[in-house]
Amino acid sequence: MASYPKETAMGWIDNHREQIAKINDEIWNYAEPALEEFKSSKLLADELESSGFQVTRKIASLSTAFIATFGSGNPVIGIIAEYDALPGLSQKAVTYRDPVIAGGPGHGDAHHCYGVASTAAALGLKEAMKQHDLTGTIKLFGTPAEETLYGKVEMANAGSFDGLDAVLSWHPGAENTVRVGSSLANNSVKFVFHGKPTHPGISPELGVNALSALEVMETAVSLLREHFPDAVRVHRVITDGGKAPNVMPERAESWYYVRAPTRPMVDSIYARLVEAAKGAAQAVGTTVDIELICGIREVLPNKALAEIQFQNLQLVGPPTFSEEEKTYARQLQASMGGESKEPLRENISPLQTITGRYSTDSAEVSWLAPLAGLYVTIFPQGVPPHSWQATALGTTGIAHKAVMVAGKVLACSGVDLLTQPEQLSKIRDEFQEKTKGFKYSPCVPLNVSKVE
Ligand SMILES: [Zn+2]
Repeated sequence: MASYPKETAMGWIDNHREQIAKINDEIWNYAEPALEEFKSSKLLADELESSGFQVTRKIASLSTAFIATFGSGNPVIGIIAEYDALPGLSQKAVTYRDPVIAGGPGHGDAHHCYGVASTAAALGLKEAMKQHDLTGTIKLFGTPAEETLYGKVEMANAGSFDGLDAVLSWHPGAENTVRVGSSLANNSVKFVFHGKPTHPGISPELGVNALSALEVMETAVSLLREHFPDAVRVHRVITDGGKAPNVMPERAESWYYVRAPTRPMVDSIYARLVEAAKGAAQAVGTTVDIELICGIREVLPNKALAEIQFQNLQLVGPPTFSEEEKTYARQLQASMGGESKEPLRENISPLQTITGRYSTDSAEVSWLAPLAGLYVTIFPQGVPPHSWQATALGTTGIAHKAVMVAGKVLACSGVDLLTQPEQLSKIRDEFQEKTKGFKYSPCVPLNVSKVE
């Protein structure tokens, strides 16, 4: 038997290296997008259940969510797992564009690594609890649909994250670090314009062009951008622009993300977009439906918890990569049009305090329990997540090594939270101070709501 709980946890993870890599690759192969992660969630939930965790499957309306619990009593330590893929990013593990299924989903944000490393951490931590008689509860949260910013919102609303003392999470990244900065709050919203179809050559005067209204809105939003504060990000895709040039579009649809450093900023920019949509509809003579899909907060950082994760990152050490792996990374960098001497970060960067220009539904959890985010190198420098190049890394030795490091850091952080009550009090004090007077409710009504 190992001498220390951390050694036991890390030893368990080391001894299951092959099994962990196999699960990683299987989930990468499934490449199931948001709310369709049936096989991915089952694989992880089954693994935990067969190892003695009590598993509750399906949370609220989320068929692919689960909660796996081990132990009893306090403290209650949460670990977050994700496993959804991204649309359009199907890609084989090669350094040139070659999808497995053209246009299909792929793990361009390495959430398959996220899910399996968190699961490994829970299992390693369980082993340490058993062998060293540590008391407390581990709850692994299988959280679907992160990429649509939805899964954790519904789980939060269902009370899944109530009663937690602290929550551990991580994300595949381009460096090895822990972030104590925030993220951007976000609204996801669709604008659907309805016009009247006609033959645009023979009888244009009889039609109302829904696409024209969408374009007026586009122009208005483009002009509004100069008034947006720094760090605001408003981006969109046009999901319906009509079907053929000789049929005046009856329907046109755009899908926006409104991101800003705080919820009130998102609310005020969102209100401007709603006015722009209404104005555009009026100008062209269409109607507009506004479908507010979901909204999330910015991450509430917890420095005391971040420091524990950071200490354990130093204890475990960053991944180191072979020449072959670095060559693969360089080829992916070249496919993006760049190359650096250091393709993959192998050092530990200092604690990051800046606000990340991304949004995550983990933010909802961070307002319910102290949360910190570890990052471990998977992506080469200059290779962004949400690219086919990112998908191409998913089953490589690079990904497998990152998963091992992340799993160990989370497990060791869990040991600290279970065995160092004074550290946990510090974390709780910081959390309570920052959430004084805060009462959780979803930022926008759950499910699609038609505002107009
Ligand atoms: Zn992600």
